Amino acid sequence: MSTPGAALSRCLRRDKEDRATNAHRFIFGPVRSGRLGLSLGLDLLGARICTFDCLYCEVGPTDALTVARKPYVPAEHLLAELASVKAAGCGPLDAVTLGGLGEPTLNTDCAAIIAGAKELFPDVPVAVLTNSSLLSDPQVRRDIAGADIVLPSMDTLVAAEYRRVNRPHPSMDLAAIRRGLLDFRAGFAGRLYLEILLLAGGNDSEENLELLRAFCRELAPDRVDVVTMSRPGAHLGAAPVVPEVLARFRQALGVAAPSSAEDASEGHGPAALRARVPAAGRTDDLTARIAASVTRRPQTAKGISLALGRTLDAVQAALDALERDGTVRRESAGGEIFYSGQAG
Ligand code: SF4
Repeated sequence: MSTPGAALSRCLRRDKEDRATNAHRFIFGPVRSGRLGLSLGLDLLGARICTFDCLYCEVGPTDALTVARKPYVPAEHLLAELASVKAAGCGPLDAVTLGGLGEPTLNTDCAAIIAGAKELFPDVPVAVLTNSSLLSDPQVRRDIAGADIVLPSMDTLVAAEYRRVNRPHPSMDLAAIRRGLLDFRAGFAGRLYLEILLLAGGNDSEENLELLRAFCRELAPDRVDVVTMSRPGAHLGAAPVVPEVLARFRQALGVAAPSSAEDASEGHGPAALRARVPAAGRTDDLTARIAASVTRRPQTAKGISLALGRTLDAVQAALDALERDGTVRRESAGGEIFYSGQAG
């Protein structure tokens, strides 16, 4: 595991190189999401920097486990890239989403990034994915209060399960995170979608179910999603719960089932908007966009095809080429083939 400083240096070095070659480094997608619809993703970290190292993380093991807030990707860089994506034309969107390769609220520029995204896309909701870990900090709560939708995750309220599944930075305290999320809810005017991800033998206990039931009553989120792994996770040994366990948690928490395996898990956070397919035939580099997108999130060929508005044949041909040159790899999960790339 490298230090946050080393990860930041690497991130800024790549930013400089990519800006020299005019590539989009911090914007990915649009990605089709069952929770947010067609979502343009903003990566606020640029590297695997997070407060957690979750067993199930779909972007791989955390390289820098930290609670240090910094402008990992400065607002000016990210918003310049976002303006250039908008100018190039990115089709109709359901959301612009702050997320990426780690915990986005670690970025001290997140308030400026939310404000800038709203200015560039005034008719599109701005969403923030978060693992909730920093919401005990009033400054972080203020920083993301300008978002339209916040999608926090809370997988377990049992301390031993939390350490086993989320593998947090040693300074993190579960009770403070719980309190921080409630405090954020009390002062937030937007929509709050809670996500709970279950792992077999990880956080699927009766004790957790009862604690989450009480917590949901107190939090009163606009929506709750209970999901399990549907893509390969960061660590061997992380396994999805069986459908019966998922159904029991959903029933107890009053949750509807997602409509497809691909919608069943999307990192952290839930959703409401349905996917729309953007206009096809844009002149961007399909292969480069797919490579950038699957680095942030493993996806099926069909999911990429729907999100980018390109034919399945064209997407599959691009994926085959990327797989041949070692840029992406394929893995089976939940009866589907997912493609993922290497970060950093
Ligand atoms: S799943 Fe989210 S919170 Fe967990 S390690 Fe990955 S990026 Fe961090």
